[in-house]
Amino acid sequence: MLSYLHAFHAGNFADVQKHSALALAATMMQSKKSGIAFMDTHAGSAVYDLGSERARKTGEADSGIQKLWEARERLSSSDWQPMLSVLAGLNGKVGQLKRYPGSPAWFRHFLRDDDSLVTFELHPTESERLSDWASSPKIRVVKSDGLSGMLNQLPPRQPRLLVLIDPSYEIKSEYADVAATLQKAWQKCRHGVYLIWYPILTSGLQQELIDAVRQGSVRKVLRSEVYLEQRPERGMTGSGMLVVNPPWGFDDRLSAMIEEIKEGPKGLGVSHQMDWLVPE
Ligand code: SAM
Repeated sequence: MLSYLHAFHAGNFADVQKHSALALAATMMQSKKSGIAFMDTHAGSAVYDLGSERARKTGEADSGIQKLWEARERLSSSDWQPMLSVLAGLNGKVGQLKRYPGSPAWFRHFLRDDDSLVTFELHPTESERLSDWASSPKIRVVKSDGLSGMLNQLPPRQPRLLVLIDPSYEIKSEYADVAATLQKAWQKCRHGVYLIWYPILTSGLQQELIDAVRQGSVRKVLRSEVYLEQRPERGMTGSGMLVVNPPWGFDDRLSAMIEEIKEGPKGLGVSHQMDWLVPE
């Protein structure tokens, strides 16, 4: 039974971290011309209405993407530009953001002639909305399990691969499943760039994923974690990303982006740490 709906959380601090990493990885990979297979294992419904009852119930975007948007004129890193232009394309350049792109919409922005995008989404209404949105022959929407579905697509037709693995972790076994899937995917496509999101929880459940990746044979795994300054007593206190095979210089560039927006009156109210979970 799938109960998680991303509409309650779209544009929160975790999405800012995750989609910054996605946009930066895609931008850096596209400095070369060769085609890229993009895969989005847990896609959600593509575009979210930040004024909807669901979004307003939590107000999470107010302390996430709206903060970034308010700060856009003082951001000095040019790596913000792809994100800002996607947001401006959806919302215009003035006023608060009304709509927020989910991962398939970020991927779509980067699709060139030789690239393709496969999205997986199991939730019936989310996958229906995703199919309605994906009106391009270069985008495939698959209503099946994203982890096994992605493995079935490997190795891709294109010479390069960028995968986002972003489950809702409603089922505790997903932490181990993600680690096992990464291991298998890496064996099928070692040069692929894999972005894996995970929540940082007071329960520490995410440690199972971290430990399994650390003990596995996948090499070159960067870890970026942001922690809320005002931590709730229970639940999610931060947001983490593992990036396998990041392009050269990605670590410094992502750090510089997050440093610019993490604190201060107009910041996200987070601290940031980055390290190599597994070196080359
Ligand atoms: N990646 C999206 C983004 O960044 O905008 C958010 C995805 S949300 C965290 C997780 C999504 O995975 C939900 O829409 C949920 O319905 C879907 N889902 C859950 N289990 C799944 C599975 N086994 N395969 C594919 N999708 C699944």
